[in-house]
Amino acid sequence: MLFQIKGERRSNGSLAVTADAFVSICTTFTEERMTGKIMKGIGGFYYVYVEGSGLYECRARGIFRNKKMKPNVGDVVDIDILSEEEKTGNLVKIHKRKNQLIRPMAANVDQALVIFAVHEPEPNFHLLNRFLITMEQQEIPVIICFNKTDLATTEQMQQLEKDYENSGCQVIFQAAATGEGIAQIEELLRGRTTIMAGPSGVGKSSTLNCISKEKQMETGAVSEKIKRGKHTTRHSELIHIGEDTYLMDTPGFSSLFLENIEKEDLKYYFPEFEPYENTCRFNGCCHIHEPGCEVKKALEEGKISKLRYDDYCMFYEELAQQKKW
Ligand code: GDP
Repeated sequence: MLFQIKGERRSNGSLAVTADAFVSICTTFTEERMTGKIMKGIGGFYYVYVEGSGLYECRARGIFRNKKMKPNVGDVVDIDILSEEEKTGNLVKIHKRKNQLIRPMAANVDQALVIFAVHEPEPNFHLLNRFLITMEQQEIPVIICFNKTDLATTEQMQQLEKDYENSGCQVIFQAAATGEGIAQIEELLRGRTTIMAGPSGVGKSSTLNCISKEKQMETGAVSEKIKRGKHTTRHSELIHIGEDTYLMDTPGFSSLFLENIEKEDLKYYFPEFEPYENTCRFNGCCHIHEPGCEVKKALEEGKISKLRYDDYCMFYEELAQQKKW
């Protein structure tokens, strides 16, 4: 490697290097700046994946503490490489976030993929509908995957399709066991960062294995590196499954508490109500007890899913009770 060094020749023949040139030489030898994505944060370390280079264990510089800015999983960051051999670096800059989710804690999320089984276990629709609301609150589009279609009848799937056709979500029927629907899911994930959620036993791991078949070795290596140390609690973690394509398996899905919603606003989280919103007899109709309610009429005519409407009423009551506490 040849360097051209700016400096002045002293009378004794040695070279006086300017401060700038000195810094530039040191940087060249010790640090290279790269841009990557935070896959996981644990015990003060951030694991940053750089496309084409791999995973680096990084510490955040003090400047983030001073600015009260905490790096997040999903953040696009600049890192200075400390050792390419040991794959270590310093996190020096967080790029501007597209969004910042609170539940789960993650930045730059494009969409959510929620998986339920058609059977075994039976779908918990209350949980699914709650999840849709929390995602809508955070303006994250949702893809609903009904897995284990090999265990379902055509009628059951038709009913599910009908219940969710106007929910504002894309609905996919899949079977990790047979590979049905996997290509469609892969297509939707490509080039995006997706959070994956669903109760246990529905087939999340099986689906992930289908999606990231050729990536499994790499994913294994990432997990190995991260497992090092004594932190074993489950944290949110991104998995790299293709170019610019990331998936986050989110822990803690068993109960979702609705918060920061006024009961009067709950209706806006049910996109299927929207066509009828301004046609009810009363302004500000809540679509529950009021006469001349077009939503209830649509429900009676089978244009709105009873399953979804019943949950709307249940959540409305829940929010009304919350206010009383
Ligand atoms: P997770 O807890 O959501 O990660 O679920 P797993 O992927 O561990 O799957 C739970 C069980 O469901 C396992 O016994 C899987 O073999 C089974 N399973 C997953 N996908 C399918 C499917 O498409 N059809 C059937 N019949 N079983 C499945």
